[in-house]
Amino acid sequence: MQGLMQDWPLLISRIIEHGARCHGSSEIVTYTVEGEVHRYTFAECHMRSKKLAQALERFGIRHGDRVATLAWNTYRHVEAWYGISGMGAVTHTVNPKLFSEQIAYIINHAEDRLLFLDLSFVSMVEGLAERLENIEAFVIMTDPDHMPATSLTNVICYETLLEAEDGAYSWPVLDENAAAGLCYTSGTTGNPKGVLYSHRSNFLHTWSAAAADTLGATARDTIMPIVPMFHANAWGIPYLAFALGARLVLNGPNFDGQMIHQMIQDQAVTITAAVPTLWLGLLDHLRKSGLKVDSLKNVIIGGAAAPANMIEAFETEYDVQVCHAWGMTETSPIGTIGTLNGVTAQWSRDEQLKLKVKQGRPPLGVELKVIDDDGKELPKDGKTFGHLMVRGPWVARRYFRDEGGDMLDPQGWFDTGDVATLDPNGYMQITDRAKDVIKSGGEWISSIELENAAVEHPSVAEAAVIGLPHPKWDERPLLILVAADGATIDKPEILEFLAGKVAKWWLPDAIVMVDEIPHTATGKIRKTELREQFRDFELPTA
Ligand code: ADP
Repeated sequence: MQGLMQDWPLLISRIIEHGARCHGSSEIVTYTVEGEVHRYTFAECHMRSKKLAQALERFGIRHGDRVATLAWNTYRHVEAWYGISGMGAVTHTVNPKLFSEQIAYIINHAEDRLLFLDLSFVSMVEGLAERLENIEAFVIMTDPDHMPATSLTNVICYETLLEAEDGAYSWPVLDENAAAGLCYTSGTTGNPKGVLYSHRSNFLHTWSAAAADTLGATARDTIMPIVPMFHANAWGIPYLAFALGARLVLNGPNFDGQMIHQMIQDQAVTITAAVPTLWLGLLDHLRKSGLKVDSLKNVIIGGAAAPANMIEAFETEYDVQVCHAWGMTETSPIGTIGTLNGVTAQWSRDEQLKLKVKQGRPPLGVELKVIDDDGKELPKDGKTFGHLMVRGPWVARRYFRDEGGDMLDPQGWFDTGDVATLDPNGYMQITDRAKDVIKSGGEWISSIELENAAVEHPSVAEAAVIGLPHPKWDERPLLILVAADGATIDKPEILEFLAGKVAKWWLPDAIVMVDEIPHTATGKIRKTELREQFRDFELPTA
């Protein structure tokens, strides 16, 4: 027997329509690429995204066609997001920080027909244009006054495109399983692979993100997703803001500590989200200038492990709650979030700070388990680690155009490539990426744990740990450090410091100093490059 409730496809257009209808006066503030601060309302954003949909139809974009964006977090990017997906095409957010060959590969692989780009990327795209096989026109996301001189052909000015439309448009009723968005993983090894989100998966992800225990946002909040829209949907925040009616602040091309602080203060931001390296910049600025972040109540940290001292700094020095989150492009991205539950809320503050180093617990809609090499499920004891497997309605089942073959095991689980523990309270902790874990004498050493322990030392700004071949133990850890401003590193002292925090046999066999640790386009330590750089490094064998 079937239920007798209405059929209401879960479509992205319904999110923006709801935002405009019920929270039409909520504001979007953008620190634009052109330099000024732009403000308007959800209602205006909705009208303009309908104009964009009309313009796309006029251009001949059909359902399922891919339209790429190469853009920062701005109001025009939000309009394009909703306009493209809403009219039935697929918003392909391209990460501009990738190498140019990868960008060309991704745009060709996706067979994007149009490319929307910010002024910041015009010269980069000029260098690529010859290699782009399917792009029929370039839409520069600015107004006529700021249109640059360019060697690109078939160039359209975004504002001119919108000007020609009247906005009298009804969003089509699509199949909720139709594709809505496309995002490629950064492909630290091999070619990038496309994750193809559906309207339904993004809608369900939005509902989950809107739960009080997930991102903790309400209609009374001002949210600034510093995490870019090209990195796993800005963790869903531009959808969430319209779903809740929360005010949205968009940072455009501004990422340095000073600007982030200014935006938080000037716009009274209450919730913000980004990768750990970005927070290093903000904390550094706050400390040097003795500043506070008055309005901020919640910082979401994900994409890489948040070290304990970063969590503690926010919570104790600045009275800002930290939500440590884990996810992947393949999981839309929210997989776990480190909010307290009925048990952990009773713990002491110190115990809670320790707990927050864990990546958190899954919301309804995400199933997790850890398995050993033979596929056997491991106990949820908070100690035994294994391959982290995930399944749920916003987890990918195949990559776009079947790149890489089957993604799931016969029971429908996706192997995240992460190694993790699950504890009896439901919290997951990432031990490492499977390919980064150091295999020493048949046991595993967590590079993340060593890194987090090293950055606790006051003279260390950043740390990376890689495994190097060792004749006796297979692999042993090498600790790579960047010194804090003005500090000198005393290696024996660092080893002594670590000895109090990790097992003795985990201690690195050598420590090297570098000026800078390389990062991927999504802010993670680029271990492949470090392994290459230190390929010939000889660990002491005595
Ligand atoms: P990329 O394209 O950079 O690989 P993803 O965002 O998809 O982008 O990366 C997902 C991976 O990032 C996860 O599999 C995990 O290894 C790592 N990651 C994400 N969040 C965290 C976290 N909070 N702690 C540790 N690792 C994390």
